[in-house]
Amino acid sequence: MWRIMFCCFCGLLSGAVAAGFTVHKLADGIYATERNEPPGLMFDANNVFIINEQDVVVVDSNISPDSSREVLAALRKLTNKPVRYVINTHWHEDHILGNSVWREAYPDVQFIGHVQTHQDLSTTGATNRKGLLENGAGGVASLRQAISSGKGLAGNPVTEEERRSHESDIFLVERYLNEAGSLPIIYPDLEVDSRLVLTDSKRPIEIRFLGAAHTRSDLIVWLPSEKLLIAGDLVVWPIPLIGSTSYPRAYAQSLREMLALQPEMIVPGHGPVFRDTEYSQKILALLDNLCAQVQAAKQKGETLEQAKESVDLSAFRQQFAGDSALLKLIFSMYVQGSGIPAAYNEPTAD
Ligand SMILES: [Zn+2]
Repeated sequence: MWRIMFCCFCGLLSGAVAAGFTVHKLADGIYATERNEPPGLMFDANNVFIINEQDVVVVDSNISPDSSREVLAALRKLTNKPVRYVINTHWHEDHILGNSVWREAYPDVQFIGHVQTHQDLSTTGATNRKGLLENGAGGVASLRQAISSGKGLAGNPVTEEERRSHESDIFLVERYLNEAGSLPIIYPDLEVDSRLVLTDSKRPIEIRFLGAAHTRSDLIVWLPSEKLLIAGDLVVWPIPLIGSTSYPRAYAQSLREMLALQPEMIVPGHGPVFRDTEYSQKILALLDNLCAQVQAAKQKGETLEQAKESVDLSAFRQQFAGDSALLKLIFSMYVQGSGIPAAYNEPTAD
């Protein structure tokens, strides 16, 4: 159930747990909202504001309208210029569910997404939302049970880090469930095939598709003047998200192309703003190793079930999760549990 519930999804944080975000100025007119939630099974997305001469470009919305209302309020403290574009880096709920807030506030806003996003939203996305709506309450109950019983989801005694994380997850899921069932799906108004450059601002804003990666239709945003890259979920901290809708082999190639841009700042879909590429290189090394091991297993004729046993990612788990029971759990779900099948089932050219 957990995998079904969370695999296509990144989540949100807490009221009493009061998470929210911190607004960071990255360059003149460019701000990132960096989420304050602890790492968890659910996530809310970072946002970026690019304030132009006449208007504003926002990157990504959030896991709930409530969350995007808070982000909108933060933007209004910075500027009263209208939002002209909202770029959705991909179709996962934590990056799109707050779209309605931007449309209500700015009726002329245009949403930008990859050309496959419309289809993904109406197929996989709709199925995913249905699953989340059906299973969300059960997931919350399991988290509450883990907290109250002191027995963690992996069978271990619940650590303080896990307790705070689960409380955050509960907050995010409940906020999601409050409104997700009644919201229309908002499709892109402008669709990007490989590249779209917004030139009607004081800086070029390049929206690029580098290939399949975290999903089959991830967009990144590249600001060449600032060497600032908004990565969506190609970069997720502290544990990468190689989910059931990821393409690990293509993901590695897309990351290479991303790094070839030589960004000096990277805004991840989740996690802190990076001033170097070290963490992204770590994700790339993990993907390369995962793909090589899975490929070797397939060449030996192993089934998926056999490959799940034989592929050894323990060194990477140590690298990313250290001794944290929580991070090990996240790694087991979002790298080991979903990444191996994704790599195994990914079509190959050879
Ligand atoms: Zn996400």
